[in-house]
Amino acid sequence: MIEINQDKFQKELDSHELVVLDFYSTECPPCEALAPKFEALDALYGKDIHFIKMFRQGNRELAEQLGVRSSPTLLFFRNGKQVGEMLTGGIRRSDMMRNLDALLPESRVREIHASVTPKTTETEALVLGAGPGGMAAAIYLAQAKVDTIVVDPLLPGGQVSTTHQVSNYPGFVDPQPGYMLSHYMSEQAKVAGAKMKVAVEISKVDLIKKEVLIDGHETIRAKTILISTGASPRFLNVEGEKEFYGKGISYCATCDAKYFHDKEVVIIGGGNTAVEESEFISKFASKITMVQQLPHLTANKAAQERAMADPKINILFSHEPRGFYRDGEKMVVKVEDLENKETIDLVTDGVFVFVGMKPNLDSITDPLEKDDWGYLKVDPDMRTSMPGIFAAGDVISKNIRQITTAVSDGTIASIVMARELQ
Ligand SMILES: Cc1cc2nc3c(=O)[nH]c(=O)nc-3n(C[C@H](O)[C@H](O)[C@H](O)COP(=O)(O)OP(=O)(O)OC[C@H]3O[C@@H](n4cnc5c(N)ncnc54)[C@H](O)[C@@H]3O)c2cc1C
Repeated sequence: MIEINQDKFQKELDSHELVVLDFYSTECPPCEALAPKFEALDALYGKDIHFIKMFRQGNRELAEQLGVRSSPTLLFFRNGKQVGEMLTGGIRRSDMMRNLDALLPESRVREIHASVTPKTTETEALVLGAGPGGMAAAIYLAQAKVDTIVVDPLLPGGQVSTTHQVSNYPGFVDPQPGYMLSHYMSEQAKVAGAKMKVAVEISKVDLIKKEVLIDGHETIRAKTILISTGASPRFLNVEGEKEFYGKGISYCATCDAKYFHDKEVVIIGGGNTAVEESEFISKFASKITMVQQLPHLTANKAAQERAMADPKINILFSHEPRGFYRDGEKMVVKVEDLENKETIDLVTDGVFVFVGMKPNLDSITDPLEKDDWGYLKVDPDMRTSMPGIFAAGDVISKNIRQITTAVSDGTIASIVMARELQ
């Protein structure tokens, strides 16, 4: 692998048939996450493909010419022409390998894949998930001199990294952009000594052996494991929902209702959470339109009665959302009347979706005890039903899911884990 400046780029392209180029920046956590993977793949593919690194800030002209808009960005070239995908953000080893493989004949790809040597890394504590729960635990564990590895299929931060503003996390007078709060947490964990393996593929989790296979070839074997894999909102799977996630569509009233003082909002859902959260949002908003697919609400009777009596709340029964759009500063929710099939546009300042959350446990198949909604049951020390396996944050069975509560769970779990390792 070589590092070059833009004036040498054409010469390198002319003298190598196959090239991969990494545009990196300083103070760029995803670039730091990519660097060891890029180096490891150079060792694997370097005989066939020329690996180049270029400092983006120092080579802006070429970066712009090649359409590079964020760091890191990986570009692939064959005979001087850009081919394959332009990879950016939390780049996984598997994404890189897919593009490197596409440059080579199949027989060579088979040889390279066969030469990958499995690796085993031993650690005392393994934290699954780099959200607030996992980060708090990693800070405490590393500060207690416990050898700690944190793995995450994405970049650090969890749900916080997609949160526009956080104004209720103690210690900050002004609201913090979610990505900055996540950044402070992960940097603090790194400074404490926790090793981060992020933007990795979680290939297999074996809680009985206390082993996790990442990127198909590295087994991390731990003495104790913390599951802090969080939860995800259930999506409606309609147009615009992913695009406006956290940018007009919110899934958390405690977090975002305060931004709708004297404004109009649309709430999707009619169960307990939707109805109870609508009461909370009603303290701020001037008008609430609830969109409920059934001809009645399914929340508990008392909450239903309060919502029906609230003059700010208007309920559209037997309606379903069909899409979300933006019109200047306003959000538009397209809803269908399930009885006459007509659609109408609701123009509003913001949207809250309350159709449920689900714990991120798809890759964990071991028989852990769960509640009726699939969340992990833990004791007051955050122990799960399996020895040596702890859980913290939104993935556990509890009533309040916030950054502070995830951090609290992670703190408790890590102190108990550290004590048990002594
Ligand atoms: C839009 C939005 C706004 C919010 N605003 C606020 C707010 O203002 N204030 C507040 O207090 N709370 C807010 N919340 C709630 C808060 O973000 C969560 O309660 C908190 O992030 C939970 O932390 P966690 O560590 O348990 O899980 P998460 O933040 O969900 O992090 C879990 C991590 O685990 C990773 N992961 C998933 N599967 C695996 C696996 N198999 N192996 C390894 N890692 C895995 C995920 O990639 C993720 O990085 C908001 C939530 C959302 C969605």
